[in-house]
Amino acid sequence: MKILVTGGAGYIGSHACKHLLGHGHDVVVYDNLSTGFRDLARWGEFEHGDILDDARLRGCMRRHRPDGVIHFAALSQVGESMRDPGAYYRNNVGGTICLLDAMRAEGVKRIVISGTAAVYGRPEHMPITEDVPAAPINPYGMSKLFMEQMLRDHAAAHGLHWVSLRYFNAAGADPDGETGEMHDPETHLIPRIFMAVAGDIPALELFGGDYPTPDGTCIRDYIHVADLASAHRLALEYLTEGGESGPFNLGTGKGSSVREVLDAAERACGRPVPFRMAPRRAGDPPELVAEPSRARSVLGWTPLHSGMDEIMRTAWAWFNRGKS
Ligand code: UDP
Repeated sequence: MKILVTGGAGYIGSHACKHLLGHGHDVVVYDNLSTGFRDLARWGEFEHGDILDDARLRGCMRRHRPDGVIHFAALSQVGESMRDPGAYYRNNVGGTICLLDAMRAEGVKRIVISGTAAVYGRPEHMPITEDVPAAPINPYGMSKLFMEQMLRDHAAAHGLHWVSLRYFNAAGADPDGETGEMHDPETHLIPRIFMAVAGDIPALELFGGDYPTPDGTCIRDYIHVADLASAHRLALEYLTEGGESGPFNLGTGKGSSVREVLDAAERACGRPVPFRMAPRRAGDPPELVAEPSRARSVLGWTPLHSGMDEIMRTAWAWFNRGKS
């Protein structure tokens, strides 16, 4: 297939592009490089453009005539979305409107989007199935829920075929060391742990030790980015074979607490992690763990890299790239 990948210069997008090329598909990356990196857009052809630029996006769609679209181009920080909700609705919802219009105009009928576990809000029971009613507690999660609703409406009106992959916590880096996580500013747990180990920050702030969990710290379901990448290919192939549209959770089904993540980091780095307890971070639910069996049984997806030690090893190697 020829696949247009919006946001292919970002963390998850770049892994997906590498994976797609490795499986014989042609890739066109469309990215404005606002949070992505030109260096990471090296799998496939690169088109510099903004998702909100209707004319450019449509021109790109017309020139390349993709068989399907994988849509990563979006803002993705919960805290930032609380401070600047408008940016989230403009980019994520508005960007998806532009994309769906361009697809419709050019007759492109299949799309896989980055969804998120943030659509579930603060569910009471774990693990979370796709049938748990969506109830986001921040503008980021809400923007992704609106995106899914737009896909449903376009499916009903125009015969669009869609999958939303609701990621839990993306982590790790390319096992070959060719791409990995680069955010500026970096807010995510694992890279910040490494920053503390390397002395780039004085200590990791551990947000909240009084949650109703066995060790008092938040529990998340960490999924290796290489496993996320394979799910996007499988989802697009599934749609091409006539699969039914809908959302799929991507996680391992096993949660790790922040303290367990710190322990795994110490094993990978061979050094203690300097940390200090800090207050809870606004908007963090105590526990988010996926029930991922739908993706396994329907898409044929099997996570191969998501053991915590492999996540840490690949992420630590990426963090230290070029240093020796
Ligand atoms: N976390 C932390 N210190 C940090 C960053 C994150 O204690 O500097 C915690 C955070 O409260 C959450 C978990 O680590 O429980 C994962 O956070 P991250 O920002 O990596 O991902 P999110 O769950 O927000 O998608």
